[in-house]
Amino acid sequence: MTHTMRAAVLHSFGEPLMLEERPIPEPGPGQVVVRIVASGICYTDLHIARGDWPGKPPLPLILGHEGTGEVIELGSGVTHLKKGERVGIPWLYTSCGQCDYCLEGRENLCPHQQNTGFSVPGTYAEYVLAEAAYVVHLPNNLDYYEAAPLLCAGVTSYTALKEAEVHAGQWVAVVGIGGLGHLAIQYAHAMGVHVAALDISEEKLLLAHELGAEVTINTHYQNPVARIQHLISGAHAVIVTAATADAFTKTIGMLRRGGTCVLLGLPPGDFAIPIIDAVLHHITVRGSLVGTRKDLREALHFAAEGKVKAMTDIYPLEDVNYAFTQLAQGHIHGRAVLRIA
Ligand SMILES: [Zn+2]
Ligand SMILES: [Zn+2]
Repeated sequence: MTHTMRAAVLHSFGEPLMLEERPIPEPGPGQVVVRIVASGICYTDLHIARGDWPGKPPLPLILGHEGTGEVIELGSGVTHLKKGERVGIPWLYTSCGQCDYCLEGRENLCPHQQNTGFSVPGTYAEYVLAEAAYVVHLPNNLDYYEAAPLLCAGVTSYTALKEAEVHAGQWVAVVGIGGLGHLAIQYAHAMGVHVAALDISEEKLLLAHELGAEVTINTHYQNPVARIQHLISGAHAVIVTAATADAFTKTIGMLRRGGTCVLLGLPPGDFAIPIIDAVLHHITVRGSLVGTRKDLREALHFAAEGKVKAMTDIYPLEDVNYAFTQLAQGHIHGRAVLRIA
């Protein structure tokens, strides 16, 4: 085996990633080394690379937190994984296991967590180090490319539906039909929840319809609040995946009384909540952060059963900067995934 690997590395915010040779990591106790086959590109990676957020990671950094591949090395004490096993490496690289959140089984809220492709090197690389307790086993019938987007976009949209507390027969409005939105539609559909899809792209709305959305609204031409209230008397829940803050402003008005708005997209900025409407209509507004390891297993099972399928636009690792541009311009249908092995 050679001792270096190719990786796409961020050296300064707002600059393209650089393709470089890096040393292949060695596993410490409780760790594994995974040979990466595919890595999804999350909008979070774009936010990080552009330096959009106030909290910035130390550079240089290998981005990526939707990695799929094969375990090739085991550190000492790893007993539940074998060499050759197919696994996924998610955003939650590790958590402390001792805080109130971890003890409640809500390790995605752990304040001491580390995150793949943010606080530790990520999956835009031929090999990555992972904590054995935090990688997920991939179902046999899911290929590496289909599985990769589920490791962040899949579990995030699935968990958002649980947090939205919508039930079979009710309506969810999904705002933004990108990597998250196209999966949220499918999870909702699989749960028996009706879907209204909102976007500014006719192509993405057509895709939403094919994926099971009964109602589609182009917010470029149509007033989403008026349309949603007219067509379905308001949504029981709204899931906001948009990457721009102004898309959030209309969401509260789309809800029914007693409804819940779940925030998933992470554009910098804020939006106003009308106090009187929120109180009189008994509205809940909630952020939802990725999901737990249990949520991730469940999200993968839906796909293994054929109920959810990530759409992928595949790019070789060396085209990562081009893929970023395509994502920023709204040209990706479903999820962009890097071909690494
Ligand atoms: Zn992500
Ligand atoms: Zn913790």
